[in-house]
Amino acid sequence: MTTSKTVVLLGGGVGGVVAAHALRKRLPRRHRVVLVDRERDHLFAPSLLWLMVGQREADGIRRPLAGLVRKGIDVRLGEIEKIDPETRRVTVGGETIDADHLVVALGAELAPEVIPGLQQAGHNFYTLPGAEGLRDALAGTKRGRVVVLTAAPAYKCPAAPYEAALLIDAYVRKRGIRDAVTIDVYAAEPGPMGVAGPEMSGAVKQLLQGKDIPYHPEHQVQSVDAATRRIVFANGAHADFDVLAYVPPHRAPRVIRESALASAAGWISVDRHSLETRFPGVYAIGDVVSIPLALGKPLPKAGVFAHGQAEVVAKNIAAAINGTGKAERFDGHGNCFIEIGDGKAGFGGGDFYAEPKPIVTVRAPGRRWHLGKVLFEKSWLYLKL
Ligand SMILES: Cc1cc2nc3c(=O)[nH]c(=O)nc-3n(C[C@H](O)[C@H](O)[C@H](O)COP(=O)(O)OP(=O)(O)OC[C@H]3O[C@@H](n4cnc5c(N)ncnc54)[C@H](O)[C@@H]3O)c2cc1C
Repeated sequence: MTTSKTVVLLGGGVGGVVAAHALRKRLPRRHRVVLVDRERDHLFAPSLLWLMVGQREADGIRRPLAGLVRKGIDVRLGEIEKIDPETRRVTVGGETIDADHLVVALGAELAPEVIPGLQQAGHNFYTLPGAEGLRDALAGTKRGRVVVLTAAPAYKCPAAPYEAALLIDAYVRKRGIRDAVTIDVYAAEPGPMGVAGPEMSGAVKQLLQGKDIPYHPEHQVQSVDAATRRIVFANGAHADFDVLAYVPPHRAPRVIRESALASAAGWISVDRHSLETRFPGVYAIGDVVSIPLALGKPLPKAGVFAHGQAEVVAKNIAAAINGTGKAERFDGHGNCFIEIGDGKAGFGGGDFYAEPKPIVTVRAPGRRWHLGKVLFEKSWLYLKL
């Protein structure tokens, strides 16, 4: 007798979508691949940086998850309310789904409300409405002070706030108002992209310096006053702004924090090579996991890692169901393009599992890295969804 298995993917972001494709490619149709998300559309988050400086529209960077149905993936839209990893039973919109294999790819929850005044005063460009609000605020600016702020030291895509500042610089230069606009970066962390090492950190600092963007590390925001447009930092300093673009604090999604999957810090602990949790048949990938590295900090949260982990988990689940194929291991390799404006980007990548610290190579900015990022965006949006 042939049995039918059900693989349930929680989250239709980077990890969920990659895993869905990789599983469907390998599993005979009698096995079900079910993907669950609360959002109708999948958003290609890296393009928010282009959107905020008027280079993309919302409809150009999102696609309905329903597009996966024609590829043989069962898409369920709804709020994931409960996950029982012991039984692999998930509650979605009041209904239960039972999984033979469960992959949790629920990302990170953004929590701007934990900093008093932040939401009222600034634009959270890690969301579509926030990036659109920032775009409108920048378009209406002729002179003044723009501040890019990271509201906590650890956040997904460690390059993004630095790219944002560099793209804003290029945008105001193009409009001929750079002399009338100051751009400052205030960061909670001690330096840009610290886990990638001093070469990467130094290269990003140099880029900022070369564009006359003062950098203020180790400034942890305490509160923001929307009326006086002032940021107060824990170290006693303050900064005034006309336009505030911020990266909010992150935390594990509520449904994870309330489940047996949560570690003390809320994120999910996994085997760093197989992405298995301590519960048989339950895997977690992407931003929702915390993987400690030898240098004492976790693997950065980034789509490139969610992508690589999803491939490994999907291959291993397919091998277990099909009874063929050898076990794959996630090896900690990853890279990223760093947009700097004027149609150019830098590039960095390497082995983040290397010990005692990651081995990362940094490439000088040029047009080809920017074109690489654009090509990746197009192929993602047209081939994956
Ligand atoms: C501005 C910006 C630029 C970026 N640029 C890059 C880049 O250049 N390179 C790179 O590698 N990474 C980049 N990233 C980071 C990248 O987008 C994330 O690391 C990646 O999306 C993580 O994938 P994931 O699958 O873990 O989570 P996500 O892609 O965040 O997906 C999680 C999904 O789970 C769903 N979900 C969560 N909770 C529930 C629930 N209770 N019920 C139902 N659904 C739920 C969400 O709706 C979401 O669709 C960028 C991020 C931002 C914001």
